[in-house]
Amino acid sequence: MEKRYLFTPGPTPVPPEVLAAGAEPMVHHRGADFRLVYESALARLQQVFRTASPVLLFSASGTGAMDSAVANMTAPGDRVAVVVAGAFGERWAKICQHYGLDVQRIDYEWGEVPDPDEVGSAVAGSGARIVFCTQSETSTGVVADVQALKAAVGDAALVVDAVSSLGAVPLETDAWGIDVVLSGSQKALMCPPGLAMASVAERLWDTLPASRSFYFDWRATKKAQEVFDAAFTPAVSLIRGLDVALGMLLDDGLEAGFERHIRLGRAARAGVKAMGLELFSPDNDTAAVVTAVRTPDGIDATALLRHLRDHHGVTLAPGQGALKPDVFRIGHIGWFDIFDIAAALSAVELSLTELGASIERGVAVTRAFEAYEQHVTV
Ligand code: PMP
Repeated sequence: MEKRYLFTPGPTPVPPEVLAAGAEPMVHHRGADFRLVYESALARLQQVFRTASPVLLFSASGTGAMDSAVANMTAPGDRVAVVVAGAFGERWAKICQHYGLDVQRIDYEWGEVPDPDEVGSAVAGSGARIVFCTQSETSTGVVADVQALKAAVGDAALVVDAVSSLGAVPLETDAWGIDVVLSGSQKALMCPPGLAMASVAERLWDTLPASRSFYFDWRATKKAQEVFDAAFTPAVSLIRGLDVALGMLLDDGLEAGFERHIRLGRAARAGVKAMGLELFSPDNDTAAVVTAVRTPDGIDATALLRHLRDHHGVTLAPGQGALKPDVFRIGHIGWFDIFDIAAALSAVELSLTELGASIERGVAVTRAFEAYEQHVTV
């Protein structure tokens, strides 16, 4: 008998109410039963995205929403700019290349924070009309200032990958003038994987070329959603769960959620530093989504993660790309509380000790609670 713990930055733990909603008997997607759920989920999405524009909902993982943005906003050969500061910026570059675009990369070292002024001048210099960026770069723990990025790119459309940030850190789609925001169900939205979303500002619709994707056609999706009759068979059970999860987020209040994420980030950082470990992600409140940590000398991160899972039932996330041997990540996006952070820290402390690392024992959880107890204003 073994208890399993999931402390990854996606998929994230799913509240029982959401799982139960997904397990309800099947209904037909063109009947009145489902229409009510669909209407409610779509309206709640607008509240969470903080936009009056439609939020398109697709049966796909987050990458599907990214793919849809490129397929619906560009024609072959268009010049676009891509901010690359980690694995998900790289994904933007790959998708844009796949669609035959003239890609101007604005590159940062993994772990660096994109500088809005630099991005603004690079975009102006390139003549790109669309800029693809990442709000929370889950591979590094860096959260970019997308409000400043939008101000810096001026009239160019800003497309924000908010897959691991929507619902965890502030994102004022309309107030900040963000053109397109994309997300996925399996992170701060507290659902199983399988739903992708795209909010598209009203002003963009007249400027869009013909969709290069049949399934992810934004116009067809918008038209179908306007009458709550999905273009294709929607993921009925996932949407039921999403509706419940969004209701929970909104009942709690988005600001309360942002505050909780900041405090969980503080707790995770205080705990790992108390053990004597070095952070890879930034040591400040922007790192509210995922805490990336360097393993101590002589400890391979892959071996640590295997030990955590095989001996203690605890799943943390590996570093991505070149960071894989040296970095592990503790997620705290979505349905997490301080006891999850305490459990993750205890498991890391125990496993590192069992693997022979020399770390400070018996202090991490106390430091984490002390950090968590300080309230913050968002
Ligand atoms: N962007 C970011 C920032 C992500 O964290 C992820 C998932 N880890 C994705 C995109 C891709 O989403 P998916 O795996 O759901 O396709």
